Formats: sequence, C-alpha cells, structure tokens
Amino acid sequence: MKPTFIRLHCGQDYERNPRIKKGQQYCNARKCQNERILLWKRKKYATSEDYREQCRQWQIDWWKKRPVDQYQKEYRDKNSAYVMRNCELL
Ligand SMILES: [Zn+2]
Repeated sequence: MKPTFIRLHCGQDYERNPRIKKGQQYCNARKCQNERILLWKRKKYATSEDYREQCRQWQIDWWKKRPVDQYQKEYRDKNSAYVMRNCELL
C-alpha cells in the first residue's frame, strides 16, 4: 500500500489525492500556489518561444500604458534639485 501522506515542499504533510497521479508538491496555501505558478512561468519561459514572445508583448503594453517620459516628468516635478543638477551638467 502506498503512503497516504506526502511531504510537501513547504514541509507540511499532505494527504495524497488518489485522483492526482503525478506527485503533488504544493498545498493550497496562497504562498505555495504563488510559488508553483512562478516555477511554472520560469519553466515555460525557458522552454517556450511563444511564451517569451507573449511576455515581451505584455512588457510593451505596460510601457504603452505608462510611458517612460511621463515617469521622468513626474520625477522631475517632484525633485527640482535633481533637474537643476542635470541642467548644470549640460
Ligand atoms: Zn505548501
């Protein structure tokens, strides 16, 4: 008979779900699920060209939503001393 409990990555003993054939390693805690997803993404990123392309697209969309020059303008507005120094350097 197989053991009923398996030791999870976070050190918890977890009752094996007989319907899941592959070794289950993560409990339902938010922290563990996040880690599982992160690992999945890393693996996917390393192995899938399509996924890397998708990530680039997300990044581009993010930049479009929050352009860099707008961020720099906000920074300059809040830090006038920084702006003065940059002007002196020119
Ligand atoms: Zn866990």
